Amino acid sequence: MRTPWEKFEQETIENLRGLITLDTTNPPGNERIAAAYLAEILTRAGLDPIIIERAPTRSNLIARVGGRVGGKAPLMLSSHTDVVPVEAARWSRRPFGAEIAEGCVWGRGAIDMKSKCAMDVGIAAALMRAGASPERDLIFAAVADEEAGSEQGAKFLVEHHPELVRAGFVLNETGGFTLFLGERRYYPIQVAEKGFVTVRMTVTAAPGHGSMPRVDTAIGWMADLITRITRTPMRRRVTPLMRETLAELGITPDKAPPLFGPMMANTVTPTIVRAGYKDNVIPGEASVILDGRTLPGEDERSFIRELREIVGPEPALEVIKSAAPAEASPDTGLFRLIKSRTEAADPGARAIAWMLPGATDSKFYAQLGATCYGFAPVRLDARMPFGSLYHGNDERMPIAGLLWGLRLYTDVVLTFLGLRLEDVFA
Ligand SMILES: [Zn+2]
Repeated sequence: MRTPWEKFEQETIENLRGLITLDTTNPPGNERIAAAYLAEILTRAGLDPIIIERAPTRSNLIARVGGRVGGKAPLMLSSHTDVVPVEAARWSRRPFGAEIAEGCVWGRGAIDMKSKCAMDVGIAAALMRAGASPERDLIFAAVADEEAGSEQGAKFLVEHHPELVRAGFVLNETGGFTLFLGERRYYPIQVAEKGFVTVRMTVTAAPGHGSMPRVDTAIGWMADLITRITRTPMRRRVTPLMRETLAELGITPDKAPPLFGPMMANTVTPTIVRAGYKDNVIPGEASVILDGRTLPGEDERSFIRELREIVGPEPALEVIKSAAPAEASPDTGLFRLIKSRTEAADPGARAIAWMLPGATDSKFYAQLGATCYGFAPVRLDARMPFGSLYHGNDERMPIAGLLWGLRLYTDVVLTFLGLRLEDVFA
């Protein structure tokens, strides 16, 4: 049975609201309630979802719509169901209320990323109901713990259940929303993301009495090092992808606005400083957590080498966690399809390949050989402060822009599966 398009639109908005009302703030996560919600939709449509937990309540849900026998490489639609914490007092509406106001659905996760989850689950269910036969498998994945390092989610699945999430192509966050630069509109499509190397840097020096000041204390040394780190830019390296992205925008690397800085260098940011335990004791040790981010082509060792050039040979450096950067080629049929359909959906705008300075689950799926793109399209008007709503207060999704994106996204997904919108929707 084909789903009427308007019903599909309504269901998508209702499912977005339903997911927002389920508080999956991470920590602690509690993604089980979202998995149960999604499982019910998928089961009703005739699918057989699998729920896997590494730890109780941290559910990952995977479902598969089978393609033709001997078909092409699977396409996976992936989202995470956890959200970051809220400062409720700073919101003008209830963060888990899923209210509709001013043309938007309000609530934590409206953008990041329960909206894409709602689109994905709707497409999988509609495909199943229509009994359509895709020319490749479609995998639906809604995973836990992306906001806290993916140890309970994509990383765990890739390492322990690779057969469930191995795909030729993945559509995940982040990309496909309108970016205004000067007079022009762009749709950045994420093809690359930086890696991370989180480091604890420790220095030690003789302790002493607070009444007997000295120059050579651990805190003083650490303060010098932090100043040096924040004032010394890491080496600039323009990757071939960034060179192309900037060329498309008509910007030369040396004239690029600050937005592009982190896309052209490794970066290192001090985030947690620790020293001292009593107000009249000079502590013998000071430490800082450094949030390091690596460009495609770099790794943990090259990052540490570069950090050493800034801090010198003496401080102890301990890597707490790290993940490699990922980059997919934009030279694929799927990327060309995304680009042409996006540009047709908003005449005059251009879709461009993009590097995310942050991290998503795509870096884990890429380890299994998948070509991963960030594509969750939303059309925005120039007044919408979309970027600052990620993890921000008053997170909200414009309904008209989301429905525009739903049409585009569904069209791209079905075309890539060898189907037409009319095969699935009435
Ligand atoms: Zn996210």
